[in-house]
Amino acid sequence: MNYQWYPGHMTKAKRMMQENIKLIDLIIEVVDARIPFSSRNPDIDELGKNKARLILLNKSDLADERENEKWAEYFKSKGYYVVKLNAKSGAGIKGVLPVVMESCKEKLERDRKRGIINRPIRAMVVGIPNVGKSTFINAFAGKACTKTGNKPGVTKGKQWIRINKNVELLDTPGILWPKFEDQSVGAKLAMVGSIKDEILNLEELSLELLKYLHESYEGVLTKRYDIEESENALSMLEQVAENRKCIQKGNELDYLKAANILLEEFRNGKIGKITLEKPEA
Ligand code: GDP
Repeated sequence: MNYQWYPGHMTKAKRMMQENIKLIDLIIEVVDARIPFSSRNPDIDELGKNKARLILLNKSDLADERENEKWAEYFKSKGYYVVKLNAKSGAGIKGVLPVVMESCKEKLERDRKRGIINRPIRAMVVGIPNVGKSTFINAFAGKACTKTGNKPGVTKGKQWIRINKNVELLDTPGILWPKFEDQSVGAKLAMVGSIKDEILNLEELSLELLKYLHESYEGVLTKRYDIEESENALSMLEQVAENRKCIQKGNELDYLKAANILLEEFRNGKIGKITLEKPEA
C-alpha cells in the first residue's frame, strides 16, 4: 500500500531507533491530530517500554477541537502524557517543557536518591514521516538552542540540543514506518497528504473523503462548495466539479481536477477543522 518505504529502509530505521532509545529517558512521539491512530506505529510501544512517554497531538489546528480533547483523554488513560500542539505556529509549545519534566519525575527522584544531581533528562522525537517532527524540534529548541558536542558513548555525529539545564534532545528524529498493510490507514494517510499523490487514485480517495465528511461533518460540504449533500459521493464530486468550473476538453466535467481541489482544501484546513478517526470506545 505504501510506496515510500522499503524493507531495507525500515530495518535500518528500526535498528537506529533501538540504538538511540538506549540513550534516552523520554520518547516524544509526534502524531497527526487528524489521524492519531493511523499516524502511529505501535512498534514504538515495544521499542520504548520502560521509557517515559509523551504524545504530541500535532497539527491540532487542523483537527476538530472536541476530538482533540477526546484523543488527549484517550492517550492519558493509556498512561501517556499528552500535549496538544501546533508546531508550525508555536501554539502550545510553551506547555511542552513542564510536561517533559513531569513525565520524568520518577527518573529525577531516582537520581536524587542515588545522589545524582543535574543529570539532564534526555529525550528523542519519533514519528512517521510528515507529522511535524522537524518543525517541532525547531520550535522546541527555539533560537536559544545550543548544540552540545559529541559525548562519550554517543555515536559520532550525534548531537544533543540543550533545551535548558535539565533537558537535552537528540537533534535528529527517529522515523517510524506507517502501518501501511492496513487499507483504511493507508487511505487516511493519503487524505492528510502523507503519501505521495502520484501513486494514488485521487478520484477514489476524494469520494471516500466526501462520504466521510457528509457522514461525520454534515453541512461542511454544502457550506464550502454550495452542493447538495447526499449518500451519493459521486454526485457530490460532480457538483463540486460543476461549481468550481472543472471542465475539460469537449465540455466534459474534470473529476480529477475536482478531486484535487477537494483534497488540497481539506489538507489546508479550508473545509474545516476535521478529525478523520475517533478513539475506540
Ligand atoms: P516530519 O517529516 O515529521 O519532520 O514533518 P515536518 O516537520 O517536515 O512537517 C511536515 C509538514 O507539516 C510541513 O509542511 C510543516 O510546515 C507542516 N506542519 C508541521 N506541524 C504543523 C502544525 O502543527 N500545523 C500545521 N498546520 N502544519 C504543520
